[in-house]
Amino acid sequence: MPRLNLLYANDEPGAYPKSWYADTAPALPAFPALEEDRTADVCVVGGGYTGLSAALQLAEAGLDVVLLEAQRVGFGASGRNGGQLGSGQRVTQDSLEPLVGKDHARHLWAMGQDAKALVKSLIERHAIECDLVPGVVWTGSTQAEVDDLHAYASHLDTVYGYRHMETLDAKACMALCPSPDYRGGIVDWDAAHLHPLKLALGLARAAETAGVHIHERSAVSEIIEGNPARVVTTSGTISARHVVLACNGYMGSLNPRVAAHVMPINNFIVATEPLGDRVNTVLTQNVAVADSKFVVNYFRLTLDGRLLFGGGESYGYRFPSDIAATVRKPMSRIFPHLADVPITHAWGGTLAITMKRLPYLARVGPNILSASGYSGHGVGTATHAGQLMAQAILGESAGFDTMARIPTTPFPGGARLRSPLLALAMTWYALRDRLGI
Ligand SMILES: Cc1cc2nc3c(=O)[nH]c(=O)nc-3n(C[C@H](O)[C@H](O)[C@H](O)COP(=O)(O)OP(=O)(O)OC[C@H]3O[C@@H](n4cnc5c(N)ncnc54)[C@H](O)[C@@H]3O)c2cc1C
Repeated sequence: MPRLNLLYANDEPGAYPKSWYADTAPALPAFPALEEDRTADVCVVGGGYTGLSAALQLAEAGLDVVLLEAQRVGFGASGRNGGQLGSGQRVTQDSLEPLVGKDHARHLWAMGQDAKALVKSLIERHAIECDLVPGVVWTGSTQAEVDDLHAYASHLDTVYGYRHMETLDAKACMALCPSPDYRGGIVDWDAAHLHPLKLALGLARAAETAGVHIHERSAVSEIIEGNPARVVTTSGTISARHVVLACNGYMGSLNPRVAAHVMPINNFIVATEPLGDRVNTVLTQNVAVADSKFVVNYFRLTLDGRLLFGGGESYGYRFPSDIAATVRKPMSRIFPHLADVPITHAWGGTLAITMKRLPYLARVGPNILSASGYSGHGVGTATHAGQLMAQAILGESAGFDTMARIPTTPFPGGARLRSPLLALAMTWYALRDRLGI
């Protein structure tokens, strides 16, 4: 399985990356590797939000569930992301409507709302302490972008009855986020931000309590279709009536159909030293921000007053050798007054995108379901996709089918050429960001 190994090339095997999240989340004792051949009702492959959510809900319904994770639970994107729990889908509703039709777009909006509500309710039900705080701001750097954002808030209000958006003109935006780059924006007060690794570890604890058999350092090398399907690792196998694939950006070539439709890309985050009095030069309220650039910059403050800033992407398997320097560039454009601030943590993560930036849910075998490709909008969507797969296995597949009906296109270039082709296209759009065109 060579591709899988490459996807882990940036990390120490079996260890969380050295992130601010790993430094501040209470450690979870390691789960044992799989070292037996056994049966299960369901075998879940992957221990991020998708897999943990599916496993938790299947075990709560009384099924015998085994979850196999190649490294540690929450090791992937779920333990490293920007922590923004957004509304709707990754794609705005006004772009979705012409793509899938108004009815389907309405269903997908409702699904996005369900996803957000699901995360909030799991946090509450399982008492997961993950610093959940309301408020995500979208900013525009040109008047045209700000006008688009305001028009979008109005569209959500009139067409979807969504009343949680506050519009910000230039003065209000500057009062909230004193960056010379931003001209205005909108605040989504029903969206939220949280500590992503604490959420993943909390879901793992809840899953274990519900009876899920979790095995870490148990990479699946092969899935042999059949009833039962056989899920193979180097030191054991699971014969399962159902298999859930929840590997997202770390899937590699485990399933060729999924590999053709989703593509791994890397995104990066830094944490600065605590800013002290200077926090007010970044944000005057505890909200998260995402801007309108093609390669989105996103940021928020930590409880101890650091700036957590995400920006920059790469499209090969290797992360840049100096992630801090890579992210400092966009950070200094947004906050020139912080150009010299010391960076204490810098890390990267791999996520999966699709051609249309919409999730890819599919039945990839008679008893094998897969969900991935959340395109950077997975805190809610991945958790919800896990629930939809669990419901489908339990005999209620309407939600899964609604998501699986999203039109999909494989990446051009096949497994070998999709990365270089994407890199070319993305570099062009990133250049446009920089030139402001
Ligand atoms: C830097 C960064 C910032 C982001 N910011 C945001 C954000 O602010 N808001 C948002 O909504 N989304 C964000 N995302 C996206 C979001 O994190 C993901 O969509 C989401 O975490 C996906 O969850 P998952 O469980 O599907 O995948 P992951 O969390 O990546 O988990 C997949 C797991 O599968 C395991 N695995 C893979 N192959 C195998 C195998 N063969 N055998 C066993 N295990 C295997 C991996 O080790 C991994 O732990 C961001 C992503 C990144 C990388």
